[in-house]
Amino acid sequence: MDEKKQEDKILTAKDKKEKEEPGLNKEEPLLGSLNPKKFNFSIWYFLGTLLVLLVINTFFFRPNGVITVDFSEFKEKIKAGEIRRVEMGGKYFRGLPLTKAEANRLNNENYTGQTQLSSHSYKTVRVDDPDFIKLLDGKGIEYYAKPPGNNTWLNLIFSWVIPIVFFVIVWRFISKKVGMASQSVMSFSENRAKLVAEGDTGVTFNDVAGVDEAKAELVEVVDFLKEPDKYHAIGGKIPKGVLLVGPPGTGKTMLAKAVAGEAKVPFFRISGADFVEMFVGVGAARVRDLFKQARKKAPCIVFVDELDAIGKGRGASLSSNDEREQTLNQLLVEMDGFDSRTGVIILAATNRPEILDPALMRPGRFDRQVLVDRPDLTGREAILKIHARDVKLKESVDLQKVARGTPGFSGADLANIVNEAALLAVRGGRGIVEQRDFDHAIERVIAGLEKKNRLINPKEREIVAYHEMGHAVVAAFTEGADPVHKISIVPRGLGALGYTMQLPTEERFLMTEDELLSKIDVLMGGRASEQLFFGKISTGAANDISQATEIARKMITDYGMSSKFSNVVLNSQKGPMYLSSPLGPGSREYSESTQQYVDEEITRVVNERYDKVVKFLEGKKPFVKKVAEKLLAEEVIEGDDFKAMLDEEAPGGGAL
Ligand code: ADP
Ligand code: MG
Ligand code: ZN
Repeated sequence: MDEKKQEDKILTAKDKKEKEEPGLNKEEPLLGSLNPKKFNFSIWYFLGTLLVLLVINTFFFRPNGVITVDFSEFKEKIKAGEIRRVEMGGKYFRGLPLTKAEANRLNNENYTGQTQLSSHSYKTVRVDDPDFIKLLDGKGIEYYAKPPGNNTWLNLIFSWVIPIVFFVIVWRFISKKVGMASQSVMSFSENRAKLVAEGDTGVTFNDVAGVDEAKAELVEVVDFLKEPDKYHAIGGKIPKGVLLVGPPGTGKTMLAKAVAGEAKVPFFRISGADFVEMFVGVGAARVRDLFKQARKKAPCIVFVDELDAIGKGRGASLSSNDEREQTLNQLLVEMDGFDSRTGVIILAATNRPEILDPALMRPGRFDRQVLVDRPDLTGREAILKIHARDVKLKESVDLQKVARGTPGFSGADLANIVNEAALLAVRGGRGIVEQRDFDHAIERVIAGLEKKNRLINPKEREIVAYHEMGHAVVAAFTEGADPVHKISIVPRGLGALGYTMQLPTEERFLMTEDELLSKIDVLMGGRASEQLFFGKISTGAANDISQATEIARKMITDYGMSSKFSNVVLNSQKGPMYLSSPLGPGSREYSESTQQYVDEEITRVVNERYDKVVKFLEGKKPFVKKVAEKLLAEEVIEGDDFKAMLDEEAPGGGAL
């Protein structure tokens, strides 16, 4: 426990927004490449089959000179001798002009005879006439029966050939489609990880400003990539994965590129969203492929942008997403599958570390996290300078003034401001950017950001400043409280609007009752100050209150520091939410009345301390106002400066 912070969150839509990403170049989706011509081709198959069927149909069912006649007429023709042979089908009679023998003879003489003869045949509907056979016998006419449907050719074609042909066509059509799909899947997984040529990201640390702490952390990574042997020789291990955490537009992507640019190694960038595809397994295949490529190019950097798209906690949501889970699992497998000696370092960026799967943070994975936060005043000025490098500025332009007017802006917002100012100058017909262009640009960008709920308004900022000062002043005058290290009202990621950082002077393993109470005092300082200066309280203290409550609860239930239950532990188990434990979820092992006592005792302790702190701050009102105004002007007060002001105020020190 080497550092303590009170971060103050205002529970607004701010917590939910954080997803949009300015200036991100998404690659074109490749799905549009399915060739429409191939579909047409298959339709031609279909039409062709239809045509063949038609031809077959007309060929086999051609009337063929058959004259349909009434049954009575049929009989007349038999009597007249025009019909010499009768074929008896299931539903018809057919009369042929020649006997079998005659037909055969004719056939032998003249090949074409058959068709000529058959053109003379007569056909009639079969009638059950008992005298018919007698008539035939009497006339000496040949007759024979034809079993129904014995046309073998037609049978064969209809029952075998056509279905087979049909199936073959359908099968080919389907396999073609699947083939195309799998082909495009392949090319997806191969191509999406963009490989930028060696050291070609074109970005260096000089292009990134205002994030000095993050830069300092990454310098080590660069050093490793440049001279891995130095680390191997000593047996040192460099982290495999570094996770860049921070709000959108603060330069995470840029930093990753800068690491590659500085180390002059290949840089593979892939965005988490690219992994999430409609085919299950594609994302996983892509990860595998990406690492295969990366290993070949080692030393190199693999950068997974927007890690939260795949790294969401598994099982956190009710609707499971197999595809994402598979992808995440594959990523974990790949990360475990090599060690940093291969020279592949994985960088990842996210706006929302809180939703990431805990498995990602285990040792050997993203075990190092680097905070990339919104820049403070000096950081903003530096960023403005970087982006104004290629812009013609009038000499009178004061970038520090611009920086002062843009609290809470991210690097991307500032880049936007410079660009807007340049555009305004052009619109005004001027060849050079003036201060008023910047003023207008700030107004425009602020209006946009306020709509997106990303900026706190001046009134809120004032409340935050007095709130933080409340913490700091109480801490300064409380015996046993850790000294103030830094006070800031630069909004931090994840909705924290300001913070007061205290660093303990020595490592502590035990805490006395007084020290615990003084912790509660410091936590109460924020809200007390709001109450004093504005006469009302805000949601900004939500986090402080929950921490204070927790300390008070532990004092009573865990540390045995209450008058009624001194030296007794009051166990309460926080069981897993869904598992039914014999005691029920989050059960306690003490009675209802004890619970009531604990609740009342917590309330009593916290309220007592709160009242005490309000009273104390009342006596320090002018001093709090003085430092709060300084904080509003400078955004950050370092511990030393604060101490200097403190010494001025109360040279001998003082106690609450
Ligand atoms: P993130 O990945 O954190 O959302 P980016 O790295 O994509 O942010 O930043 C977007 C753009 O904003 C960059 O291209 C750059 O022009 C500008 N920018 C952001 N942060 C910085 C910074 N710290 N220094 C200089 N420029 C920055
Ligand atoms: Mg980014
Ligand atoms: Zn607070």
